[in-house]
Amino acid sequence: MDSSQFRDAAHTAIEDIIKYYDTIQDRPVLPSVSPGYLKPLLPTSPPQEGESWPAIQSDIDKFIMPGLTHWQSPKYMAFFPCNSSFPGMLGEMYSSAFNAAAFNWICSPAVTELETIVMDWVAKLIGLPKEYLSEGEGGGIIQGTASEVVVTAVVAARERILRGRLSDMKDSEEKWDKIAEMRGKLVALGSEHAHSSTHKAAIIAGTRYRSVPAPRATDFAVTGAALRTAIEECKAKGLEPFYFTATIGSTATCAIDDLEGISEVAKDYPDIWIHVDAAYAGSALVCPEYQYLCPPIQNFSSFNFNLHKWLLVNFDCSAFFIKKRRDLTDTFSITPSYLRNEFSDRGLVTDYRDWQIPLGRRFRSLKVWFVLRTYGVSGLRAFIRNHIKLGEYFHSLLLTRTDLFTVITSPKFALTTFIINPHPRYAPSAATTLPGPTHEAYLNDFTTDAEARYQAEVNRVTKEVYERVNTQGEFFITGTVVCGNF
Ligand code: PLP
Repeated sequence: MDSSQFRDAAHTAIEDIIKYYDTIQDRPVLPSVSPGYLKPLLPTSPPQEGESWPAIQSDIDKFIMPGLTHWQSPKYMAFFPCNSSFPGMLGEMYSSAFNAAAFNWICSPAVTELETIVMDWVAKLIGLPKEYLSEGEGGGIIQGTASEVVVTAVVAARERILRGRLSDMKDSEEKWDKIAEMRGKLVALGSEHAHSSTHKAAIIAGTRYRSVPAPRATDFAVTGAALRTAIEECKAKGLEPFYFTATIGSTATCAIDDLEGISEVAKDYPDIWIHVDAAYAGSALVCPEYQYLCPPIQNFSSFNFNLHKWLLVNFDCSAFFIKKRRDLTDTFSITPSYLRNEFSDRGLVTDYRDWQIPLGRRFRSLKVWFVLRTYGVSGLRAFIRNHIKLGEYFHSLLLTRTDLFTVITSPKFALTTFIINPHPRYAPSAATTLPGPTHEAYLNDFTTDAEARYQAEVNRVTKEVYERVNTQGEFFITGTVVCGNF
């Protein structure tokens, strides 16, 4: 494809994409294909001779579109969102045109420098404590996903505690034996409602994992007291807690851990790396009314949210902020001769490869820059507030039919969880009143057999409705289990 063929192909592709966005609301969200649908439709090996763009493009409609789930549809209400925007797409387009694996500053200075600037913009936009800005000892880096961030944080935390404990030992077999012995005792902690990425990160880092209770009584949040108890219980067994994920906006109910209480605990255990996972809800911090959450973060080690979830930046774009960038570089900086250059050697530049697990990196900051400039702070705040208002409206609609629905957790950010009420004949006894909109019975333990049967019936009915909605394909919603309720 030469540049003139590219011009024609790109114009038709853009037209096609615009048509897709202009009509997306008319499509069912979910595809109706069966597993393995694509294999019989495509050749078993690549073409011997190159094909024309029109031939390739027409196969999008024929073969790909039927198998797409339309995440950008207004009828898509599953999981957390994965927003896109036209300025975000333009950023992706330029990034792929400038195609580079810009791991060191010298590999493409603009890639590194724009990233540092836009990450500082984002840190200020969401009200992060100033310690997380690049002008001090901290800074931000863009990663692919929140899960990658958690792995990076857990590995850096593991190495930080080992470095601290073994700093007076010289490199030797004895030191490696000690490291192996200590690694086996390290425990990563996360709320029982923390995203599974923390448990996965502990597996990857080869440490233990333990969950901290976050019961209904605390609105599914980990309190400082619960964290302290978990730490002390580990220590009593001779184990070494070294890392904890605090969550703003848990996956099942959007719970917010007790950051103030956790921050008090952090002061007593300075060796423990506390990371804040705000993968979805962090975007809400662009609105000053949510920034009351930020001050305790000053006492933690790192913070992350996904701009690709709820801030109009196309996938992938996960912002990872660190209070002391040396915590990353001391772990991840390994410099063989082929990566050396005079700018790095003289300490004049940031080499983001030293802040992350992979070497190569994409030019992701362009799309962030485009989105921030296109919408402006006021546009982004209006966008988030509108979603939160829609979430509240949805909740108010549920409340108009308390005969049908019971709200389990009322809207947090834009998430509401609810169940479908079963037929009254399933109520365990006359004493069990039929549930109201936030009926406590659902959130307490069901103790008697009759109550357990009742809950099973609630779950059956709710699951059936959920499955019917998703089977119809018009809308897409997600199920979760809260206090035993589906
Ligand atoms: N953390 C939370 C609270 C999440 O809800 C999710 C996903 O929804 C993740 C982490 C993982 O996100 P990612 O897909 O970016 O790894």
